Amino acid sequence: MNAADRAHQAIGKAKAGDPRALARLISLVENAAPELRAVARALAPLGGQARVIGLTGAPGVGKSTVTAALVAAYRERGLRVAVLAVDPTSPFTGGALLGDRVRMQDHATDPDVFIRSMATRGHLGGLSQAAPQALRVLDAAGFAVLLVETVGVGQAEVEVASLADTTLVTVAPGMGDAIQVAKAGILEVGDVFVVNKADKAGAQETVRDLRSMIAMARRGADDWKPPIVTTVAVKGEGIAELVAKVDAHWGWLDSSGQGEARRLARAREEIAAIALAELRRRVGGLPGDSRLDDLAGQVAAGKLDPFTAADELVDTDPA
Ligand code: GDP
Repeated sequence: MNAADRAHQAIGKAKAGDPRALARLISLVENAAPELRAVARALAPLGGQARVIGLTGAPGVGKSTVTAALVAAYRERGLRVAVLAVDPTSPFTGGALLGDRVRMQDHATDPDVFIRSMATRGHLGGLSQAAPQALRVLDAAGFAVLLVETVGVGQAEVEVASLADTTLVTVAPGMGDAIQVAKAGILEVGDVFVVNKADKAGAQETVRDLRSMIAMARRGADDWKPPIVTTVAVKGEGIAELVAKVDAHWGWLDSSGQGEARRLARAREEIAAIALAELRRRVGGLPGDSRLDDLAGQVAAGKLDPFTAADELVDTDPA
């Protein structure tokens, strides 16, 4: 069996609900394995059905709890749901980390829920290269809703928004979280804001602060007005309203053409990230790659100019 046949077979098994086949496919992505190209070719015509929801917010605001509540809500609709937790700061990988982080015990035995954490540190291209491919795998495997949760803070929070159709930004009362949102620059990328822990003091102030910050934030030409939903995720309160707002955003994406625009923007980023990683690979600096040393010797000796040397480096493949 050739690589393409093997890829089709693995995707077929994943689609039929074989979690091990699915986990293996995601591992290929994570490890940027050589078979990934054949898998990507086989996946290309299969996807495009899933909706991607990105969840960002400072640690402790309740992202994992909101994620678990959303899984339950979408399962009630009979949809297959996958959760991808990306941690760009951690070298650890596999499902163990997420098992206790996301409060997912209720879903652990549900074959229509797939949960996976993905570490992207050290990965060529990081989050920008690995996560979109993992989402393509899950989409092709027939999951209708893909929840992407960032575990890390900072840039990753903004980056995850570029993966998602709908980005949820979660804050909690106190903790100065509304201010953190403004600092991190995720105000601009939030499609729906969640004030979780509404059972705690100060929730209404947080809603008010957030509302004025959203009003002040410069947004693009889009006319979507990001709503704010208050939730008590531990009790499932407000989750139905949150799902309704996400539905409304999906409707807007479809009717405004912004959904298609976002898909195109994502494809552009994906291509650029893969191309850059490929260029980095060709430029080398890897052990055993003597081309850069040879060229450096020539440039240092004045036999070659550095521009010509750089052209040679990118135009030839080290492999
Ligand atoms: P994450 O780090 O953002 O993923 O936050 P978690 O989902 O792990 O939640 C952090 C803590 O807040 C946990 O102890 C949760 O049980 C608790 N928590 C989550 N949602 C709520 C809520 O609505 N109200 C209260 N009081 N606590 C909550």
